[in-house]
Amino acid sequence: FRLERSELLGEDEFGEFGPDELEYYVDARGTFDKVPLCPDDESLAASGADVAIVGAPTDDGTSGRPGARFGPRAIRSAPTTWGRDAWSIQLEVEPYERLTVVDAGDAPVVPSRHARALRVIHEKVFRVAGSGAIPVVLGGDHSITYPSAAAVARHVWPRRVGVVHFDAHADAADSISGSLISHGTPMRRLIDEGWVQGSNFVQVGLRGYWPEKATFDWMRAQGFRWHTIVEVEERGVDAVVDDAIAESLDGPEVVYLSVDIDVVDPGMAPGTGTPEPGGMTGRELLRAVRRIVGAVELAGMDVVEVSPPYDQSEVTSMLAYRVVMEALSSLAARRT
Ligand code: MN
Ligand code: MN
Repeated sequence: FRLERSELLGEDEFGEFGPDELEYYVDARGTFDKVPLCPDDESLAASGADVAIVGAPTDDGTSGRPGARFGPRAIRSAPTTWGRDAWSIQLEVEPYERLTVVDAGDAPVVPSRHARALRVIHEKVFRVAGSGAIPVVLGGDHSITYPSAAAVARHVWPRRVGVVHFDAHADAADSISGSLISHGTPMRRLIDEGWVQGSNFVQVGLRGYWPEKATFDWMRAQGFRWHTIVEVEERGVDAVVDDAIAESLDGPEVVYLSVDIDVVDPGMAPGTGTPEPGGMTGRELLRAVRRIVGAVELAGMDVVEVSPPYDQSEVTSMLAYRVVMEALSSLAARRT
């Protein structure tokens, strides 16, 4: 790592909330699937959790429609959650029987201080990973993947992490409107700072008209691998996902999975900030998540860009909740 270059490390942006004050809340409506709340290091360690949900409720990195700061609240309280008796029909497993899952609460972000938000998210995810739990981070806009994936990379070091990134957008611009910490730039920061190698950064579902050619030229020079929506159409989800798994693990031993809900067609996931027509189906995304988490050692994941103010009938937050459930069920099934 070239840690001296990282924007994520240092004390000056914590402000009145020091790095030791990460014992924070979840929305009063409750934890993810009513699992126990373990917001501090002590309760998290005592829980022996295999997986910990973390909220990252910021959307100060958004360039278009905002609202993703309400994503964690909406995903945690998605309309059809099942609680402890959940039974995966897809995988024939009871995820909460085989896994200890807790909710570590939210990283203590405050609005309008985005650099600080990314630092406290980094610290929170790093502590969760340090407890031995796999962090499952609920965004928030996609800028949170920079501190979150970096925290996982820092935790697993000297093992390396590969990234599988589902998105309509590559999010690898150098800057957006002069900002280095936009939701359009997190993948560039992860590569520039050395947290992840470009050759192990794999993107699925890209489409539309952004970013511009120069960014793709930079990605190619870094060794990025990407699979556009056209390739998903032509080869099918399984073939593309199998390639993505192999490419992400071409060197690394563990995988960080980042799911931007806008990889799914806006007809099935309208509640997002930067919708792009012509996306995957919800069914394809859930299948892909099962296939990846069932095949790799998952070191961390996030589900980002759910913007409840733009949602219809809560379908987007339900889909995001199901993305997490498919990951939990796949982790559970591996323990059979
Ligand atoms: Mn994104
Ligand atoms: Mn996107």
